[in-house]
Amino acid sequence: MIGSGVGTRSWIGLGLGLLTASAIASSAMAADCPGNPGALGTSRTIVVDPREHPLIGTMQYRETLPLKDHEVVLTFDDGPLPKYSYQVLKMLADECVKATFFIIGSQAKANPDGVRRLVAAGHTVGTHSMNHPLTFDRMPIEKAEAEINGGIEWTQAAMTDPSALAPFFRIPGLMRAEGVENHLISRGIQVWSADFPADDWRHVSSERVYQLAMQRLEAKGKGILLLHDIQARTVAALPKIIRDLKARGYRIVHVVPATADRPATPTEQVEWLMHPPSETVPIARWPKVPNFVFARTDMLPAPALADLHTEMPRPVALSRHISAQASAVTLPVPGRDVFDIPEKSLAVLMASSSRRTATRMTSAEPAATPLTAAPKNGKSKGKTRAKIAAAAPRGAQPAHAANAKRPAQANVTRPTRVASLKKRQQ
Ligand SMILES: [Zn+2]
Repeated sequence: MIGSGVGTRSWIGLGLGLLTASAIASSAMAADCPGNPGALGTSRTIVVDPREHPLIGTMQYRETLPLKDHEVVLTFDDGPLPKYSYQVLKMLADECVKATFFIIGSQAKANPDGVRRLVAAGHTVGTHSMNHPLTFDRMPIEKAEAEINGGIEWTQAAMTDPSALAPFFRIPGLMRAEGVENHLISRGIQVWSADFPADDWRHVSSERVYQLAMQRLEAKGKGILLLHDIQARTVAALPKIIRDLKARGYRIVHVVPATADRPATPTEQVEWLMHPPSETVPIARWPKVPNFVFARTDMLPAPALADLHTEMPRPVALSRHISAQASAVTLPVPGRDVFDIPEKSLAVLMASSSRRTATRMTSAEPAATPLTAAPKNGKSKGKTRAKIAAAAPRGAQPAHAANAKRPAQANVTRPTRVASLKKRQQ
């Protein structure tokens, strides 16, 4: 549909400009949304191969999705929770918007129909662990694997066709660790961070969620927006976000995984960078793009995401912990409390899934579940992974140790874990 807009532009002449072209594209989109001629719509679908680009989202990684200016990918975490997820689904359906949902296994187990509805509506469904522990950065890899498998198993169990599950994973709380990333990469699973959150898991107003979403999007001009479909404030903010996206000329992009019958959308390597060098950027600023980016990411301070009310260029701080093992492709882990589930929303979780027990929250042994763990893809030792593995040997978790020493993390209060909250509530 965007293609048709661009195609049209080629014959309408230079004088009409981009605005006209995007208006044509918008009307083409609206025509595809029955009953809502003013719909935001979904401008295009991109097919991604996790093995070619295993780590995405500039909040933590060097690469992000190959979006053009003013293109946005909506993502929703932690559902499905009928009370709120179904309202989000309705809003997206009314606007013909396709998004990506990262499912918690225990939620899928409690609300399998919610997963089926997401798939039936044409959204992309990935996973977000079994129980959402905020300890992926320090748990043994076996435990992380059990959490990953549990989420996959229960989400697939809820699906009519298990192959509908995308090999996309978002680490709870974005508590990344190289061991976890390498494990996911070895299975052909793409690790999704984000380009900006809207703080909708915090105790802020829906107005604030809307403001943050738009401010941060405007600062970057495009990217992956991280939201949660289990929060009342997100449900309340979404209509305003959608309205503003439309008003400011943003376009929604739907992301799906490559399959044997569906090859990845052809892209240039440079398109996977948030701000690749271009003719409009003085070349002197980009003497050596890869080195520049590597050096910059390696030395960034731990981002205080809570304070990122506006996007500003981060100061480059000298790192005292540069080592051969420090990841060259990742940013530091965000503050530990960033994605903690507030107790209030946990009460909602509890109310909707009372069958779950605290015991299960803390022990996600694959053998304890009735389903067979099946790695998504066991033959994915691409050169990208080999490169990453060379920089950080599998099993080693240098980021963990480095984080412990990082001053910015020293005063961060350790979040209350979901499991301990549940125990307390029983
Ligand atoms: Zn989450």
